[in-house]
Amino acid sequence: MIIKEKNYWLGTVAAPPAQSPRDLPDDIDVVVVGGGFCGLSAARTLAKRGVKVAALEAETFGWGASSRNGGMVLTGMKLPAPTLIKRHGCAAVRRMYAASLESIDCVERIVREENIDCNFSRCGHLEVACKQAHFDGYEESAALIKREFNHELHIIPKSGLRAEIGSDIYFGGMVDETSAGLNPARYVAGLALAAQRDGACLYDHTRVTSVDREKNNGAGKFRVQTSRGVITAREVVLASGAYTTEATPALRKKIIPIGSYIIATEVLPSDLARELSPRNRMIYDSKHFLYYYRLTPDNRMLFGGRAAFFPETENTVRQSAEILRRGMIGVYPQLHSVKVEFVWGGTLDFTLDVMPHAGKIEGMYFAAGFAGHGVAAATWFGTKLAGLICGEPNDIPFDGIKFPAAPLGLRSGNTWALPLAGAWYRFLDFFTGPHFRANGSLATSASTLIASGAMMT
Ligand SMILES: Cc1cc2nc3c(=O)[nH]c(=O)nc-3n(C[C@H](O)[C@H](O)[C@H](O)COP(=O)(O)OP(=O)(O)OC[C@H]3O[C@@H](n4cnc5c(N)ncnc54)[C@H](O)[C@@H]3O)c2cc1C
Repeated sequence: MIIKEKNYWLGTVAAPPAQSPRDLPDDIDVVVVGGGFCGLSAARTLAKRGVKVAALEAETFGWGASSRNGGMVLTGMKLPAPTLIKRHGCAAVRRMYAASLESIDCVERIVREENIDCNFSRCGHLEVACKQAHFDGYEESAALIKREFNHELHIIPKSGLRAEIGSDIYFGGMVDETSAGLNPARYVAGLALAAQRDGACLYDHTRVTSVDREKNNGAGKFRVQTSRGVITAREVVLASGAYTTEATPALRKKIIPIGSYIIATEVLPSDLARELSPRNRMIYDSKHFLYYYRLTPDNRMLFGGRAAFFPETENTVRQSAEILRRGMIGVYPQLHSVKVEFVWGGTLDFTLDVMPHAGKIEGMYFAAGFAGHGVAAATWFGTKLAGLICGEPNDIPFDGIKFPAAPLGLRSGNTWALPLAGAWYRFLDFFTGPHFRANGSLATSASTLIASGAMMT
């Protein structure tokens, strides 16, 4: 199978706006570095409050993970609730869980307020169990989430799965009706337009190359050096995600960039599409090395996974296409002769403790570590950072958590150890039962990254 790299979502949207032809201002209230969900939602919120803000994007708006993802707007966090509670205590995790639910409302509110045509739908998500032991853990998980977070999940026994998914390979499932789906490229383009309408200045093809504190004018402003000139700013927001560069080394060394890849088939007949996903859920499986999949609004099967660990290159994308096609047919033998028309890759921002982090680093505001929850989380964190800049009290439950640096070998630009982590996950998927997901016991005894399911998308 030879298909050329092409992101399906990008073909569904006009190019997002930018103000490239204009010169950069010399001075502005806030510079936002990065034009994905996080940077644009920060810029939009700041502009709405009358703050003069410039969002600088090295490529085009949405170019990073924000236009490359599966469009799943998911509840919860990357790590299982029992692991989180063990680490951070019940009270803190209640606030974190509430934030995860609020972040979906936040996306929905923005889509509605800004009239963004991005197929947002509260279709719910389905997690499917790859082993009986995984399914056995669902009951306990759902009970804990109901008890501690007052949030309802539904357990689907194997006998009921056909109402949820047209595949017989799983041992049961768990549904969360609160999750949603959208078209991420349309959403990020809509966010950019909204930010611009509200008065934010957007500059694409403007790479930030360094950020320093001005020392001699006493104002303590930041001097932001870019590929198109210098801007001084009172505040800087780092929203550069997995694509964070040496321009901000303190943040870069904390981020672990992990590749994830997606294929999309040709348009399927509507009865086949309905058979594959009768309720049009956002679906992912229970493995560490997981697959995630969904129908697109025009009835293609979009199927993703960590087919290669390294961030996307021509090579990893090409290899991933065949690996993912085999994976897709393993789940849905019905798709055996269906054509795959698109393949693309992107990079996720993981952190060593698999948590999102936000706050200040070297005086600059930042948020990062959204992993596979960034559609909702990055949007929400962007609005929260903007709120902090406008003087709102800090109620971000993830601020203040110790933010460890990534070990050498997993850091951006130096990711030679990623395949070792990948091998470890395959080992865990082969040998482990529900403990690793349900109570995170190994996660507390070995390297957190390696044991916690961190590489999930
Ligand atoms: C294949 C894939 C599938 C995914 N699936 C899902 C999913 O289904 N659901 C979900 O919730 N999450 C998913 N994610 C994760 C989600 O897409 C991200 O967490 C989210 O998009 C992060 O948004 P962001 O704004 O922080 O970063 P990005 O969207 O990555 O934006 C960062 C931007 O910063 C720019 N930048 C970096 N450095 C500089 C600089 N020095 N100067 C100027 N600009 C700079 C980059 O060019 C980039 O455009 C997926 C990710 C991938 C890659």
